[in-house]
Amino acid sequence: MAPTFADLLLSPEVLQAIDTLGFEEPTPIQAQTIPLLLEGRDVLAQAQTGTGKTAAFALPLVERIDVKRRQVQALVLAPTRELAVQVAEAMHNLGRTRGIAVLPVYGGQAYDRQLQGLRAGVHVVVGTPGRVMDHMRRGTLDLSAVRTIVLDEADEMLDMGFVEDIEFILNEMPEERQIALFSATVPRRIETLARKYLRDPQRVSVEHDARTESQTRQMYVEVQYRDKIEALTRILDLESPSSAIVFCRTKREVDELSATLQSRGYTAAAIHGDINQAQRERLLQAFRDGRAELLIATEVAARGLDIPDVTHVFNYDIPDDADAYIHRIGRTGRMGKKGDAVTFVTPREMGQLRFIEKQIRKNLRQVRVPTTGDIAARRQEALRTALVTAIESGAASTYYAALVGTLAEAHDPLAVAAAAIYLANGGPGGRHDEPTTGDMDEGEPTAEGGMVRLYLDTGRTHGVRPQDVVGAFTGEAGIAGSTIGTIDMFGDFTLVEVERRAATAILERATVLSMHGREVHVSPAREKRERSGETTEKKAPTARKKPRTRKPS
Ligand code: AMP
Repeated sequence: MAPTFADLLLSPEVLQAIDTLGFEEPTPIQAQTIPLLLEGRDVLAQAQTGTGKTAAFALPLVERIDVKRRQVQALVLAPTRELAVQVAEAMHNLGRTRGIAVLPVYGGQAYDRQLQGLRAGVHVVVGTPGRVMDHMRRGTLDLSAVRTIVLDEADEMLDMGFVEDIEFILNEMPEERQIALFSATVPRRIETLARKYLRDPQRVSVEHDARTESQTRQMYVEVQYRDKIEALTRILDLESPSSAIVFCRTKREVDELSATLQSRGYTAAAIHGDINQAQRERLLQAFRDGRAELLIATEVAARGLDIPDVTHVFNYDIPDDADAYIHRIGRTGRMGKKGDAVTFVTPREMGQLRFIEKQIRKNLRQVRVPTTGDIAARRQEALRTALVTAIESGAASTYYAALVGTLAEAHDPLAVAAAAIYLANGGPGGRHDEPTTGDMDEGEPTAEGGMVRLYLDTGRTHGVRPQDVVGAFTGEAGIAGSTIGTIDMFGDFTLVEVERRAATAILERATVLSMHGREVHVSPAREKRERSGETTEKKAPTARKKPRTRKPS
Protein backbone atom coordinates (compact mmCIF):
# COMPACT_ATOMS: atom_id res chain seq x y z
CA MET A 1 0.00 0.00 0.00
CA ALA A 2 1.19 3.51 -0.72
CA PRO A 3 2.60 5.20 2.38
CA THR A 4 0.95 8.23 3.94
CA PHE A 5 2.91 11.36 4.83
CA ALA A 6 2.69 10.30 8.48
CA ASP A 7 4.31 6.95 7.58
CA LEU A 8 7.30 8.92 6.33
CA LEU A 9 7.91 10.07 9.91
CA LEU A 10 7.41 13.75 9.35
CA SER A 11 6.65 15.86 12.40
CA PRO A 12 3.12 17.01 13.28
CA GLU A 13 3.98 20.61 12.36
CA VAL A 14 5.17 19.62 8.91
CA LEU A 15 2.18 17.32 8.45
CA GLN A 16 -0.02 20.28 9.24
CA ALA A 17 1.70 22.39 6.57
CA ILE A 18 1.20 19.57 4.06
CA ASP A 19 -2.43 19.33 5.02
CA THR A 20 -2.93 23.06 4.53
CA LEU A 21 -1.54 22.76 1.02
CA GLY A 22 -4.04 20.00 0.35
CA PHE A 23 -1.53 17.25 -0.49
CA GLU A 24 -3.28 14.01 0.38
CA GLU A 25 -0.60 11.43 -0.11
CA PRO A 26 3.06 11.42 -1.13
CA THR A 27 3.86 11.14 -4.81
CA PRO A 28 6.19 8.24 -5.75
CA ILE A 29 9.30 10.43 -5.75
CA GLN A 30 8.37 11.77 -2.32
CA ALA A 31 7.70 8.31 -0.91
CA GLN A 32 11.10 7.12 -2.08
CA THR A 33 13.23 10.17 -1.38
CA ILE A 34 11.96 11.59 1.89
CA PRO A 35 13.05 8.68 4.14
CA LEU A 36 16.53 8.66 2.59
CA LEU A 37 17.03 12.38 3.01
CA LEU A 38 15.69 12.28 6.57
CA GLU A 39 18.32 9.62 7.33
CA GLY A 40 20.99 11.98 6.03
CA ARG A 41 21.86 9.97 2.93
CA ASP A 42 23.06 11.50 -0.33
CA VAL A 43 20.55 11.00 -3.11
CA LEU A 44 20.69 11.06 -6.89
CA ALA A 45 17.08 11.42 -7.99
CA GLN A 46 15.85 11.31 -11.53
CA ALA A 47 12.56 13.18 -11.63
CA GLN A 48 10.97 15.74 -13.86
CA THR A 49 8.99 18.79 -13.03
CA GLY A 50 5.47 17.81 -12.16
CA THR A 51 6.39 14.73 -10.14
CA GLY A 52 6.31 16.57 -6.83
CA LYS A 53 10.11 16.70 -6.73
CA THR A 54 10.27 20.06 -4.99
CA ALA A 55 8.42 18.83 -1.92
CA ALA A 56 10.50 15.62 -2.11
CA PHE A 57 13.58 17.58 -1.08
CA ALA A 58 11.88 20.49 0.66
CA LEU A 59 10.03 18.38 3.24
CA PRO A 60 13.03 16.56 4.73
CA LEU A 61 14.97 19.77 4.48
CA VAL A 62 12.52 21.86 6.53
CA GLU A 63 12.19 18.95 8.94
CA ARG A 64 15.91 18.84 9.64
CA ILE A 65 16.52 22.55 10.13
CA ASP A 66 17.40 23.68 13.65
CA VAL A 67 15.07 26.66 13.80
CA LYS A 68 16.76 28.24 16.81
CA ARG A 69 20.00 28.67 14.90
CA ARG A 70 19.47 31.50 12.47
CA GLN A 71 22.16 30.42 10.07
CA VAL A 72 22.01 29.15 6.53
CA GLN A 73 21.68 25.40 7.04
CA ALA A 74 20.50 24.45 3.58
CA LEU A 75 21.39 25.67 0.13
CA VAL A 76 19.33 24.92 -2.95
CA LEU A 77 20.79 25.68 -6.37
CA ALA A 78 18.42 26.11 -9.30
CA PRO A 79 19.10 27.01 -12.93
CA THR A 80 16.79 30.00 -13.35
CA ARG A 81 15.45 32.77 -11.23
CA GLU A 82 11.89 31.62 -11.95
CA LEU A 83 12.65 28.21 -10.54
CA ALA A 84 14.53 29.70 -7.58
CA VAL A 85 11.53 31.85 -6.71
CA GLN A 86 9.13 28.94 -7.12
CA VAL A 87 11.21 26.61 -4.97
CA ALA A 88 11.64 29.30 -2.31
CA GLU A 89 7.91 29.78 -2.19
CA ALA A 90 7.23 26.04 -1.93
CA MET A 91 9.82 25.81 0.83
CA HIS A 92 8.28 28.77 2.63
CA ASN A 93 4.83 27.18 2.51
CA LEU A 94 6.07 23.80 3.70
CA GLY A 95 8.26 25.31 6.41
CA ARG A 96 5.79 27.89 7.64
CA THR A 97 4.53 25.95 10.64
CA ARG A 98 8.10 25.39 11.79
CA GLY A 99 9.03 29.04 11.31
CA ILE A 100 11.63 28.38 8.62
CA ALA A 101 13.00 31.50 6.93
CA VAL A 102 13.82 31.13 3.24
CA LEU A 103 15.52 33.62 0.93
CA PRO A 104 15.74 33.44 -2.84
CA VAL A 105 18.87 35.03 -4.35
CA TYR A 106 19.26 35.35 -8.06
CA GLY A 107 20.92 37.41 -10.70
CA GLY A 108 19.10 40.49 -11.88
CA GLN A 109 17.81 41.41 -8.44
CA ALA A 110 19.49 44.24 -6.54
CA TYR A 111 22.11 43.06 -4.09
CA ASP A 112 20.70 45.38 -1.41
CA ARG A 113 17.54 43.44 -0.97
CA GLN A 114 19.37 40.16 -0.81
CA LEU A 115 21.88 41.54 1.67
CA GLN A 116 19.13 42.77 3.94
CA GLY A 117 17.59 39.31 3.91
CA LEU A 118 20.90 37.62 4.54
CA ARG A 119 21.74 39.94 7.40
CA ALA A 120 18.39 39.27 9.04
CA GLY A 121 19.40 35.61 9.12
CA VAL A 122 17.70 32.88 7.15
CA HIS A 123 17.69 29.09 7.39
CA VAL A 124 17.53 28.29 3.70
CA VAL A 125 18.94 30.04 0.65
CA VAL A 126 17.60 29.15 -2.78
CA GLY A 127 19.68 30.65 -5.53
CA THR A 128 21.06 30.55 -9.01
CA PRO A 129 24.71 29.35 -9.05
CA GLY A 130 26.22 32.57 -10.41
CA ARG A 131 24.66 34.83 -7.81
CA VAL A 132 25.35 32.43 -4.95
CA MET A 133 28.98 32.32 -5.99
CA ASP A 134 29.11 36.13 -6.15
CA HIS A 135 27.82 36.39 -2.61
CA MET A 136 30.33 33.83 -1.42
CA ARG A 137 33.17 35.77 -3.03
CA ARG A 138 31.99 39.02 -1.53
CA GLY A 139 31.78 37.39 1.86
CA THR A 140 28.10 38.19 2.15
CA LEU A 141 26.91 34.61 2.32
CA ASP A 142 28.20 32.45 5.11
CA LEU A 143 27.74 28.81 4.25
CA SER A 144 29.79 27.33 7.07
CA ALA A 145 26.67 25.95 8.79
CA VAL A 146 25.20 24.34 5.67
CA ARG A 147 24.28 20.69 6.22
CA THR A 148 22.32 20.02 3.08
CA ILE A 149 22.80 21.10 -0.53
CA VAL A 150 20.22 20.45 -3.20
CA LEU A 151 21.02 20.69 -6.88
CA ASP A 152 17.66 21.13 -8.53
CA GLU A 153 17.34 20.48 -12.25
CA ALA A 154 21.04 19.71 -12.34
CA ASP A 155 21.02 18.76 -16.04
CA GLU A 156 19.61 22.19 -16.87
CA MET A 157 22.29 23.87 -14.79
CA LEU A 158 25.01 22.00 -16.64
CA ASP A 159 23.42 22.80 -19.98
CA MET A 160 23.44 26.44 -19.05
CA GLY A 161 27.16 26.32 -18.41
CA PHE A 162 27.05 26.48 -14.62
CA VAL A 163 29.32 23.51 -14.03
CA GLU A 164 32.29 25.55 -12.84
CA ASP A 165 30.16 27.65 -10.54
CA ILE A 166 28.57 24.54 -9.07
CA GLU A 167 31.93 22.92 -8.50
CA PHE A 168 33.25 26.10 -6.93
CA ILE A 169 30.31 26.15 -4.53
CA LEU A 170 30.49 22.45 -3.70
CA ASN A 171 34.22 22.70 -3.03
CA GLU A 172 33.54 25.38 -0.45
CA MET A 173 30.96 23.33 1.43
CA PRO A 174 31.64 21.92 4.87
CA GLU A 175 33.03 18.42 4.97
CA GLU A 176 30.00 17.07 6.81
CA ARG A 177 27.22 17.71 4.40
CA GLN A 178 24.45 15.93 2.59
CA ILE A 179 23.84 16.39 -1.15
CA ALA A 180 20.62 15.74 -3.01
CA LEU A 181 20.98 15.92 -6.76
CA PHE A 182 17.74 16.16 -8.73
CA SER A 183 17.80 15.91 -12.47
CA ALA A 184 15.24 15.15 -15.17
CA THR A 185 17.85 13.20 -17.13
CA VAL A 186 21.06 11.52 -16.01
CA PRO A 187 23.60 11.90 -18.82
CA ARG A 188 27.24 11.07 -18.30
CA ARG A 189 28.11 14.56 -17.09
CA ILE A 190 25.64 14.22 -14.24
CA GLU A 191 27.07 10.79 -13.35
CA THR A 192 30.52 12.34 -13.23
CA LEU A 193 29.41 15.18 -11.02
CA ALA A 194 27.63 12.74 -8.72
CA ARG A 195 30.65 10.47 -8.49
CA LYS A 196 32.88 13.38 -7.60
CA TYR A 197 30.75 14.96 -4.90
CA LEU A 198 28.10 12.56 -3.62
CA ARG A 199 28.91 9.92 -1.03
CA ASP A 200 27.44 6.50 -1.55
CA PRO A 201 24.40 8.05 -3.21
CA GLN A 202 21.08 6.26 -3.25
CA ARG A 203 19.53 6.32 -6.68
CA VAL A 204 15.88 7.03 -7.04
CA SER A 205 13.95 7.46 -10.22
CA VAL A 206 10.35 7.92 -11.19
CA GLU A 207 8.62 8.04 -14.46
CA HIS A 208 6.96 11.19 -15.54
CA ASP A 209 3.79 11.42 -13.50
CA ALA A 210 0.90 12.82 -15.46
CA ARG A 211 -1.07 13.37 -12.28
CA THR A 212 1.18 16.13 -11.06
CA GLU A 213 1.79 17.79 -14.39
CA SER A 214 0.43 21.26 -14.59
CA GLN A 215 -2.51 21.32 -16.94
CA THR A 216 -2.95 25.05 -16.85
CA ARG A 217 -4.01 26.61 -20.12
CA GLN A 218 -2.31 29.96 -20.35
CA MET A 219 -4.22 32.49 -22.38
CA TYR A 220 -4.49 36.21 -22.92
CA VAL A 221 -7.17 38.55 -24.18
CA GLU A 222 -6.31 41.83 -25.79
CA VAL A 223 -8.77 44.39 -24.51
CA GLN A 224 -9.05 48.16 -24.13
CA TYR A 225 -8.75 49.36 -20.56
CA ARG A 226 -12.35 50.63 -20.50
CA ASP A 227 -13.69 47.28 -21.72
CA LYS A 228 -12.00 45.15 -19.10
CA ILE A 229 -14.95 44.79 -16.75
CA GLU A 230 -17.28 43.80 -19.55
CA ALA A 231 -14.71 41.32 -20.83
CA LEU A 232 -14.27 39.80 -17.39
CA THR A 233 -17.98 39.42 -16.72
CA ARG A 234 -18.52 37.81 -20.11
CA ILE A 235 -15.78 35.29 -19.51
CA LEU A 236 -17.17 34.60 -16.04
CA ASP A 237 -20.63 34.11 -17.55
CA LEU A 238 -19.33 31.77 -20.19
CA GLU A 239 -17.07 29.72 -17.95
CA SER A 240 -19.02 29.81 -14.67
CA PRO A 241 -15.83 29.07 -12.73
CA SER A 242 -16.48 27.30 -9.45
CA SER A 243 -13.62 29.21 -7.84
CA ALA A 244 -11.52 31.96 -9.32
CA ILE A 245 -8.96 34.54 -8.28
CA VAL A 246 -8.77 37.90 -9.96
CA PHE A 247 -5.52 39.78 -9.50
CA CYS A 248 -5.45 43.57 -9.73
CA ARG A 249 -2.57 45.97 -9.53
CA THR A 250 -3.88 48.42 -6.91
CA LYS A 251 -6.09 48.45 -3.84
CA ARG A 252 -8.39 50.89 -5.51
CA GLU A 253 -8.88 48.61 -8.43
CA VAL A 254 -9.64 45.70 -6.12
CA ASP A 255 -12.32 47.76 -4.39
CA GLU A 256 -13.81 49.11 -7.59
CA LEU A 257 -13.85 45.79 -9.35
CA SER A 258 -15.38 43.91 -6.45
CA ALA A 259 -18.06 46.59 -6.05
CA THR A 260 -18.92 46.37 -9.76
CA LEU A 261 -18.97 42.59 -9.75
CA GLN A 262 -21.17 42.52 -6.64
CA SER A 263 -23.57 44.94 -8.26
CA ARG A 264 -23.74 42.55 -11.19
CA GLY A 265 -24.66 39.65 -8.93
CA TYR A 266 -21.36 37.94 -8.20
CA THR A 267 -20.25 37.13 -4.68
CA ALA A 268 -16.74 38.45 -4.41
CA ALA A 269 -14.32 38.69 -1.49
CA ALA A 270 -11.82 41.54 -1.78
CA ILE A 271 -8.40 41.33 -0.18
CA HIS A 272 -5.70 44.00 -0.14
CA GLY A 273 -3.22 45.72 2.12
CA ASP A 274 -5.77 47.88 3.96
CA ILE A 275 -7.68 44.86 5.11
CA ASN A 276 -6.36 43.52 8.37
CA GLN A 277 -5.22 39.97 8.91
CA ALA A 278 -8.30 38.86 10.83
CA GLN A 279 -10.63 40.17 8.15
CA ARG A 280 -8.52 38.59 5.45
CA GLU A 281 -8.80 35.23 7.13
CA ARG A 282 -12.56 35.63 7.40
CA LEU A 283 -12.88 36.56 3.74
CA LEU A 284 -10.63 33.75 2.74
CA GLN A 285 -12.74 31.33 4.73
CA ALA A 286 -15.82 32.52 2.86
CA PHE A 287 -13.98 31.83 -0.36
CA ARG A 288 -12.87 28.39 0.80
CA ASP A 289 -16.42 27.46 1.83
CA GLY A 290 -17.78 28.60 -1.50
CA ARG A 291 -19.77 31.45 0.03
CA ALA A 292 -17.77 33.80 -2.19
CA GLU A 293 -17.20 32.59 -5.73
CA LEU A 294 -14.50 35.09 -6.56
CA LEU A 295 -11.47 36.32 -4.71
CA ILE A 296 -10.27 39.72 -5.86
CA ALA A 297 -6.81 40.53 -4.58
CA THR A 298 -3.66 42.49 -5.04
CA GLU A 299 -0.66 40.32 -5.52
CA VAL A 300 1.04 41.39 -2.34
CA ALA A 301 -2.02 40.70 -0.21
CA ALA A 302 -2.43 37.27 -1.76
CA ARG A 303 1.15 36.31 -1.10
CA GLY A 304 1.58 34.15 1.93
CA LEU A 305 -2.11 33.29 2.14
CA ASP A 306 -3.18 29.68 2.01
CA ILE A 307 -5.37 30.01 -0.99
CA PRO A 308 -6.90 26.76 -2.12
CA ASP A 309 -6.48 25.52 -5.65
CA VAL A 310 -8.81 27.39 -7.99
CA THR A 311 -10.14 26.60 -11.44
CA HIS A 312 -9.35 30.03 -12.89
CA VAL A 313 -6.79 32.75 -12.36
CA PHE A 314 -7.49 36.08 -14.01
CA ASN A 315 -4.76 38.66 -14.33
CA TYR A 316 -7.06 41.61 -14.58
CA ASP A 317 -3.90 43.67 -14.81
CA ILE A 318 -0.86 42.20 -16.45
CA PRO A 319 1.78 41.32 -13.83
CA ASP A 320 5.01 43.29 -13.68
CA ASP A 321 7.31 40.42 -14.49
CA ALA A 322 7.61 36.70 -14.99
CA ASP A 323 8.07 35.94 -11.29
CA ALA A 324 4.82 37.63 -10.45
CA TYR A 325 3.14 35.90 -13.35
CA ILE A 326 4.30 32.46 -12.26
CA HIS A 327 3.27 33.11 -8.67
CA ARG A 328 -0.16 34.17 -9.70
CA ILE A 329 -0.96 31.39 -12.12
CA GLY A 330 0.49 28.81 -9.74
CA ARG A 331 -2.81 29.02 -7.87
CA THR A 332 -4.47 26.89 -10.49
CA GLY A 333 -3.80 23.61 -12.29
CA ARG A 334 -2.07 21.92 -9.39
CA MET A 335 -1.55 18.17 -9.33
CA GLY A 336 -2.75 17.44 -12.78
CA LYS A 337 -6.02 19.26 -12.32
CA LYS A 338 -7.15 21.42 -15.17
CA GLY A 339 -6.76 25.13 -14.76
CA ASP A 340 -7.19 28.25 -16.82
CA ALA A 341 -5.07 31.37 -16.49
CA VAL A 342 -6.30 34.36 -18.45
CA THR A 343 -4.27 37.57 -18.64
CA PHE A 344 -5.88 40.83 -19.73
CA VAL A 345 -3.60 42.89 -21.91
CA THR A 346 -4.35 46.37 -23.21
CA PRO A 347 -2.88 47.20 -26.62
CA ARG A 348 -0.25 49.35 -24.91
CA GLU A 349 0.80 46.44 -22.73
CA MET A 350 1.52 44.02 -25.56
CA GLY A 351 5.25 44.64 -25.19
CA GLN A 352 5.02 43.68 -21.54
CA LEU A 353 3.28 40.45 -22.51
CA ARG A 354 6.04 39.58 -24.99
CA PHE A 355 8.60 40.29 -22.28
CA ILE A 356 6.91 37.86 -19.89
CA GLU A 357 6.52 35.25 -22.62
CA LYS A 358 10.21 35.44 -23.34
CA GLN A 359 11.11 34.97 -19.71
CA ILE A 360 8.83 32.02 -19.16
CA ARG A 361 9.80 30.60 -22.55
CA LYS A 362 6.21 30.05 -23.52
CA ASN A 363 3.70 31.86 -25.67
CA LEU A 364 0.28 32.51 -24.27
CA ARG A 365 -2.62 31.64 -26.53
CA GLN A 366 -4.73 34.55 -27.62
CA VAL A 367 -8.44 34.14 -26.99
CA ARG A 368 -11.14 36.63 -27.75
CA VAL A 369 -13.78 38.05 -25.49
CA PRO A 370 -16.89 35.87 -25.73
CA THR A 371 -19.84 37.40 -27.53
CA THR A 372 -23.27 37.57 -25.93
CA GLY A 373 -24.25 34.92 -28.47
CA ASP A 374 -21.59 32.55 -27.11
CA ILE A 375 -22.89 33.08 -23.60
CA ALA A 376 -26.51 32.54 -24.55
CA ALA A 377 -25.60 29.34 -26.39
CA ARG A 378 -23.64 28.07 -23.43
CA ARG A 379 -26.46 28.83 -21.04
CA GLN A 380 -28.97 27.01 -23.19
CA GLU A 381 -26.62 24.08 -23.34
CA ALA A 382 -26.34 24.03 -19.54
CA LEU A 383 -30.09 24.26 -19.24
CA ARG A 384 -30.53 21.40 -21.69
CA THR A 385 -28.12 19.22 -19.72
CA ALA A 386 -29.86 20.04 -16.44
CA LEU A 387 -33.24 19.20 -17.93
CA VAL A 388 -32.06 15.91 -19.38
CA THR A 389 -30.56 14.98 -16.00
CA ALA A 390 -33.81 15.80 -14.23
CA ILE A 391 -35.82 13.81 -16.78
CA GLU A 392 -33.51 10.82 -16.60
CA SER A 393 -33.36 10.75 -12.81
CA GLY A 394 -37.13 10.42 -12.70
CA ALA A 395 -37.32 12.85 -9.79
CA ALA A 396 -39.19 15.46 -11.80
CA SER A 397 -41.89 12.97 -12.79
CA THR A 398 -42.34 11.77 -9.24
CA TYR A 399 -43.40 15.21 -8.11
CA TYR A 400 -44.93 16.82 -11.16
CA ALA A 401 -46.16 14.19 -13.61
CA ALA A 402 -49.75 14.39 -12.32
CA LEU A 403 -49.83 18.17 -12.59
CA VAL A 404 -48.36 18.13 -16.09
CA GLY A 405 -50.90 15.46 -17.06
CA THR A 406 -53.78 17.68 -16.01
CA LEU A 407 -52.31 20.71 -17.79
CA ALA A 408 -51.63 18.73 -20.94
CA GLU A 409 -55.31 17.92 -21.25
CA ALA A 410 -56.04 21.58 -21.85
CA HIS A 411 -52.71 22.83 -23.32
CA ASP A 412 -50.03 21.78 -25.76
CA PRO A 413 -47.41 19.80 -23.71
CA LEU A 414 -44.67 21.78 -25.47
CA ALA A 415 -46.18 25.00 -24.14
CA VAL A 416 -46.45 23.48 -20.66
CA ALA A 417 -42.79 22.54 -20.64
CA ALA A 418 -41.72 25.93 -22.00
CA ALA A 419 -43.78 27.69 -19.33
CA ALA A 420 -42.14 25.61 -16.60
CA ILE A 421 -38.66 26.54 -17.80
CA TYR A 422 -39.69 30.15 -18.21
CA LEU A 423 -40.86 30.30 -14.59
CA ALA A 424 -37.78 28.45 -13.34
CA ASN A 425 -35.67 31.13 -15.03
CA GLY A 426 -37.39 33.97 -13.22
CA GLY A 427 -40.62 34.31 -15.24
CA PRO A 428 -41.44 37.85 -16.34
CA GLY A 429 -38.41 40.02 -15.71
CA GLY A 430 -36.21 36.92 -15.54
CA ARG A 431 -33.23 36.32 -17.74
CA HIS A 432 -34.24 34.77 -21.04
CA ASP A 433 -31.91 34.45 -23.96
CA GLU A 434 -33.03 34.67 -27.52
CA PRO A 435 -33.86 31.20 -28.84
CA THR A 436 -30.87 29.41 -30.30
CA THR A 437 -32.66 26.43 -31.76
CA GLY A 438 -34.40 26.10 -35.09
CA ASP A 439 -33.19 26.52 -38.61
CA MET A 440 -31.31 29.59 -39.63
CA ASP A 441 -30.96 31.02 -43.04
CA GLU A 442 -27.89 29.93 -44.87
CA GLY A 443 -25.00 32.18 -43.95
CA GLU A 444 -26.96 34.04 -41.30
CA PRO A 445 -24.56 35.23 -38.62
CA THR A 446 -24.64 33.02 -35.56
CA ALA A 447 -22.34 35.26 -33.61
CA GLU A 448 -21.90 38.95 -33.19
CA GLY A 449 -19.70 41.35 -35.04
CA GLY A 450 -20.04 40.11 -38.61
CA MET A 451 -18.89 36.63 -37.67
CA VAL A 452 -20.55 33.49 -39.00
CA ARG A 453 -20.08 29.90 -38.10
CA LEU A 454 -18.91 27.16 -40.37
CA TYR A 455 -19.56 23.48 -39.86
CA LEU A 456 -16.83 20.89 -40.45
CA ASP A 457 -17.67 17.20 -40.62
CA THR A 458 -14.73 16.18 -38.48
CA GLY A 459 -14.05 16.49 -34.79
CA ARG A 460 -12.14 15.35 -31.77
CA THR A 461 -12.72 11.65 -32.32
CA HIS A 462 -10.84 11.94 -35.59
CA GLY A 463 -7.82 13.34 -33.84
CA VAL A 464 -8.23 16.75 -35.44
CA ARG A 465 -6.98 19.63 -33.33
CA PRO A 466 -7.79 23.36 -33.47
CA GLN A 467 -4.37 24.06 -34.97
CA ASP A 468 -5.19 21.68 -37.86
CA VAL A 469 -8.30 23.70 -38.56
CA VAL A 470 -6.39 26.96 -38.50
CA GLY A 471 -3.69 25.45 -40.68
CA ALA A 472 -6.17 24.29 -43.33
CA PHE A 473 -8.11 27.54 -43.28
CA THR A 474 -5.06 29.73 -43.66
CA GLY A 475 -2.96 27.38 -45.79
CA GLU A 476 -5.40 25.70 -48.15
CA ALA A 477 -8.29 28.11 -48.10
CA GLY A 478 -6.01 31.12 -47.93
CA ILE A 479 -7.85 33.25 -45.37
CA ALA A 480 -6.05 35.34 -42.76
CA GLY A 481 -5.63 33.76 -39.33
CA SER A 482 -6.99 36.92 -37.73
CA THR A 483 -10.40 36.31 -39.31
CA ILE A 484 -10.83 33.08 -37.36
CA GLY A 485 -12.67 33.24 -34.05
CA THR A 486 -13.67 30.49 -31.65
CA ILE A 487 -13.15 26.90 -32.68
CA ASP A 488 -15.53 24.59 -30.86
CA MET A 489 -14.60 20.96 -31.31
CA PHE A 490 -17.19 18.30 -30.68
CA GLY A 491 -17.05 14.53 -31.05
CA ASP A 492 -17.41 14.20 -34.79
CA PHE A 493 -17.94 17.74 -35.93
CA THR A 494 -16.50 21.17 -35.39
CA LEU A 495 -17.90 24.69 -35.43
CA VAL A 496 -15.58 27.45 -36.48
CA GLU A 497 -16.41 31.10 -36.18
CA VAL A 498 -14.96 33.23 -38.98
CA GLU A 499 -15.54 36.69 -40.32
CA ARG A 500 -18.35 36.72 -42.82
CA ARG A 501 -16.16 37.75 -45.74
CA ALA A 502 -13.64 35.04 -45.00
CA ALA A 503 -16.45 32.49 -44.72
CA THR A 504 -17.76 33.49 -48.13
CA ALA A 505 -14.27 33.15 -49.53
CA ILE A 506 -13.88 29.65 -48.13
CA LEU A 507 -17.29 28.54 -49.34
CA GLU A 508 -16.47 29.83 -52.80
CA ARG A 509 -12.92 28.57 -52.98
CA ALA A 510 -12.46 25.46 -50.96
CA THR A 511 -15.27 23.51 -49.40
CA VAL A 512 -13.13 20.39 -49.15
CA LEU A 513 -10.01 20.76 -47.03
CA SER A 514 -7.51 18.32 -45.71
CA MET A 515 -6.96 18.10 -41.93
CA HIS A 516 -4.94 15.52 -40.07
CA GLY A 517 -4.95 13.35 -43.19
CA ARG A 518 -8.74 13.50 -43.61
CA GLU A 519 -10.91 15.05 -46.23
CA VAL A 520 -13.11 17.56 -44.49
CA HIS A 521 -16.22 19.25 -45.87
CA VAL A 522 -17.01 22.83 -44.94
CA SER A 523 -20.54 24.17 -44.93
CA PRO A 524 -22.47 26.95 -43.20
CA ALA A 525 -23.44 25.96 -39.66
CA ARG A 526 -27.04 25.44 -38.76
CA GLU A 527 -28.07 25.67 -35.17
CA LYS A 528 -30.05 22.43 -35.09
CA ARG A 529 -27.00 20.49 -36.17
CA GLU A 530 -24.92 22.34 -33.66
CA ARG A 531 -26.79 21.32 -30.56
CA SER A 532 -27.56 17.73 -31.27
CA GLY A 533 -26.63 16.43 -27.86
CA GLU A 534 -22.88 16.69 -28.13
CA THR A 535 -20.79 18.12 -25.40
CA THR A 536 -18.26 20.77 -26.17
CA GLU A 537 -14.54 20.49 -25.89
CA LYS A 538 -14.50 23.25 -23.33
CA LYS A 539 -15.22 22.51 -19.71
CA ALA A 540 -18.86 21.70 -19.11
CA PRO A 541 -20.44 24.57 -17.22
CA THR A 542 -20.54 23.91 -13.53
CA ALA A 543 -23.74 24.56 -11.69
CA ARG A 544 -23.84 27.85 -9.84
CA LYS A 545 -23.60 27.48 -6.13
CA LYS A 546 -26.61 29.65 -5.69
CA PRO A 547 -29.12 31.18 -8.00
CA ARG A 548 -28.05 34.57 -9.09
CA THR A 549 -30.40 37.40 -9.67
CA ARG A 550 -28.96 39.95 -11.94
CA LYS A 551 -29.46 43.59 -12.03
CA PRO A 552 -29.41 44.98 -15.50
CA SER A 553 -25.93 46.21 -16.22
P1 AMP B 1 6.90 19.84 -8.75
O1 AMP B 1 7.19 18.56 -9.47
O2 AMP B 1 7.72 19.98 -7.54
O3 AMP B 1 7.03 21.02 -9.67
O4 AMP B 1 5.38 19.81 -8.24
C1 AMP B 1 4.27 19.81 -9.09
C2 AMP B 1 2.99 20.23 -8.39
O5 AMP B 1 2.50 19.20 -7.56
C3 AMP B 1 3.12 21.46 -7.50
O6 AMP B 1 2.03 22.31 -7.79
C4 AMP B 1 2.98 20.92 -6.09
O7 AMP B 1 2.37 21.86 -5.24
C5 AMP B 1 2.12 19.70 -6.29
N1 AMP B 1 2.40 18.61 -5.33
C6 AMP B 1 3.59 18.18 -4.90
N2 AMP B 1 3.45 17.11 -4.07
C7 AMP B 1 2.14 16.85 -3.98
C8 AMP B 1 1.37 15.86 -3.29
N3 AMP B 1 1.93 14.92 -2.54
N4 AMP B 1 0.05 15.92 -3.42
C9 AMP B 1 -0.52 16.89 -4.19
N5 AMP B 1 0.15 17.84 -4.86
C10 AMP B 1 1.47 17.82 -4.77
